[in-house]
Amino acid sequence: MRAALPPALADRVAAVRVREDALSLVIDGSGLSETAREASEAELRESLAGKVGDRRIAVAFMGERVKRRIVAVGSGKGGVGKSTVTANLAVALKRAGVKVGVIDADIYGPSQPILLKSEDMKPEAEGETLQPVVGAADIPMLSMGHLVNKGRALAWRGPMAGRALAQLFEANWGDAELLLVDLPPGTGDVQITMLQKFKPDGAVIVSTPQDLALADAARAGSLFDQGEVPILGLVENMAGYVCPHCGEASDPFGSGGVERAAARLELPFLGRIPLSHAIREASDAGEPIALGDTPEGGAYREIAARIAAAIGVDAG
Ligand code: ADP
Repeated sequence: MRAALPPALADRVAAVRVREDALSLVIDGSGLSETAREASEAELRESLAGKVGDRRIAVAFMGERVKRRIVAVGSGKGGVGKSTVTANLAVALKRAGVKVGVIDADIYGPSQPILLKSEDMKPEAEGETLQPVVGAADIPMLSMGHLVNKGRALAWRGPMAGRALAQLFEANWGDAELLLVDLPPGTGDVQITMLQKFKPDGAVIVSTPQDLALADAARAGSLFDQGEVPILGLVENMAGYVCPHCGEASDPFGSGGVERAAARLELPFLGRIPLSHAIREASDAGEPIALGDTPEGGAYREIAARIAAAIGVDAG
């Protein structure tokens, strides 16, 4: 009977009982979420179809379900580096031993397939359930960009976007214990509907240091308050530029503004990422800088550790 099953499933079979009219299977479901259990059961039934005569198949799972947390990464406006932060935090968390997955919910400009190098991949579906693709650093991920052809306008609205997003969240996330969600920029109805529907356990706000961006970050703060999502803290991106030629440090967008804003809003400050050519180049190449051991990578790692601690996930 085991031989009829895919190896990963066969390994999980803890007990088999064959009766005249029924075949009962007990499966070790530890580490599997509800969705993953459902997908496994469907796969089991499919593999055994036609091989057990007219016996009924009964499947029972034992073991602990995976406790999965969702952290949304948002920003008051586009272009502040929210997606780059999300991708690098995912890589940093993964390197710290966290089973992390990424949902790119940015319906206006999904960029995770480029950032995490999965542009040409297409997620497969088992029934209604999507299987995440595997991006850089072996991170399971799904993006609105995987669901439509490259270059097609993605200004989705209403029910169609809602259905596509639900598919991303309800995919087979297997043993992932933390999902990072790259939200669309802004603080409108689209974002609030997403928060209400998918109920993240926490949110991170990314901002650049100048005053205008900070006003947007404050709006992002009230968006999360409205959605009753606890804010884990603020990240300052594009802080301080170190000239690659002369080594002189300057602050094109000012510096420390986000930390001051965090203090004013009585929110934790999670850390700052410098403005750096290396970050942009690595991002464009689909090799997030947090994969390496540069100071920029270290900045993402520090923030990742603070997020893991805030959300109660063990990171090394
Ligand atoms: P958002 O998701 O907020 O729209 P992106 O993550 O797409 O922003 O970043 C916008 C652009 O800025 C990209 O070209 C990205 O490579 C670049 N970028 C992001 N963070 C940094 C940084 N710290 N230093 C240099 N370039 C950055």
